[in-house]
Amino acid sequence: MKIEKIEVSSYRLPPSVPWEDATNKVQALEFVMVEMKTSTGLHGVGFTYSVDIGGSAIAELAETYLAPLVIGMDPLDYERILQKLQRQSRRLGTGVNTLAIAAFDVAVWDLIGKIHQQPLWRLFGGTRPEIPAYISEINLSESDGIDDYLGRVKDYIARGYRAIKIKIGRAEIDNDLERIVRTSELLGSGGRVFVDLNQKWTASEAVAKASRFADLGLGWIEEPLRCDDISGHAALKRSINTPIALGESLFSRSQFLDYLTVGAVDFVQADIAFVGGFTEWLRIAHLAQAFGRPMAPHYMMELSLQGLCGIPNGFMLENVVGGSFTELGLLAEPIVVEGAVARPPDRPGHGVVFDHAALERVRLDTDSLKRAFEGGSK
Ligand SMILES: [Mg+2]
Repeated sequence: MKIEKIEVSSYRLPPSVPWEDATNKVQALEFVMVEMKTSTGLHGVGFTYSVDIGGSAIAELAETYLAPLVIGMDPLDYERILQKLQRQSRRLGTGVNTLAIAAFDVAVWDLIGKIHQQPLWRLFGGTRPEIPAYISEINLSESDGIDDYLGRVKDYIARGYRAIKIKIGRAEIDNDLERIVRTSELLGSGGRVFVDLNQKWTASEAVAKASRFADLGLGWIEEPLRCDDISGHAALKRSINTPIALGESLFSRSQFLDYLTVGAVDFVQADIAFVGGFTEWLRIAHLAQAFGRPMAPHYMMELSLQGLCGIPNGFMLENVVGGSFTELGLLAEPIVVEGAVARPPDRPGHGVVFDHAALERVRLDTDSLKRAFEGGSK
């Protein structure tokens, strides 16, 4: 079997609710899709994403340079395909090329699932048919008052969620503390609150501020520092009992190995797009398992679901409010989390079936971006 044809397309749309964290006000999500057709008539779909910026660069790299390398290859040779793409693009470092490679790797795995007529979670190990989910808000707008916020929390609890992640990092730490304490009260015993700084603090600031959170029983503190500050995370880890979660901003397995080796991460949040697809994500998951660390992957809910149900050390699925493909209105076959438990679809491959008419309405338009691009970085 050979991959005979590859098509690349790109899309840009805002999240279905406004997103704002400690360091960024999100304008748009960008998705790049890589569709593969085989000599036997199979159709594989891969995709990757970026936030606000870079979608057109990823699509250009994918279409002009990477797609021709994969034409003629057998989708079962996923390692060979991945190595070819990684070696050819290594002088680009990690970033745009890694994101582009992810779309190819995901499409190849979708084909492998269709060849074997199995959903991917079973090919990844088949550990469990479902995984608990936590609700994740990107909600740090100054205009978001405590009453509105607590109303949403009550709604999540009514929908069955027992674990909630909130953004913190407001100028007034008491404001962060109030939201954490009130959320914990509503959840009651057995509930979990995770907090996410999005790399807001400096290393010395973190040691001082994190001590204020020490007695709150937080499930984790996420990305407290710059993502490349390994020694800073290690120092913070030594000074607090709260577990540390990170990995959404790391691009390679060697970066994860560095964090694991110095014991600076408790929950490993590798993002399937950011690490270059399922193949690398699975390597990182197995690496984390060797260090006794669970996986709690960032975003990409529909793909993370397949990964988490496959591996033995899956922890929880992140359901980002306003960010799933279903909430974005892009799926022909919605993938919905019910009662805070997510089940992968029974369909072969990753099971994500896009609504092509909906996609058509949000095609990435580089001409309008050149005239009016506005970033949301604070
Ligand atoms: Mg995060």
